[in-house]
Amino acid sequence: MALIITDECINCDVCEPECPNEAISQGDTIYYINPSKCTECVGHYETPQCVEVCPVDCIPLDPFIRKAGSNFKLNMKN
Ligand code: SF4
Ligand code: SF4
Repeated sequence: MALIITDECINCDVCEPECPNEAISQGDTIYYINPSKCTECVGHYETPQCVEVCPVDCIPLDPFIRKAGSNFKLNMKN
């Protein structure tokens, strides 16, 4: 499970301190979420905190990471 920051990121630095797993860092051009650290905030908060605070809504679920998870198995059953 992980989220991804798209190139719509405006480098506002609001999301980085909100992450309970220190999964967010500043990349070369935009901010970046380490998929091995991101837990979608499960166990810490009811909703992903980076998504809550991002002013430009540029943090969707990573579709490739999701395919390896439980949703992909659900899709296979349908
Ligand atoms: S969803 Fe939560 S754990 Fe994942 S990057 Fe955002 S704040 Fe961090
Ligand atoms: S809150 Fe959104 S716009 Fe700001 S640095 Fe994080 S991802 Fe980029």
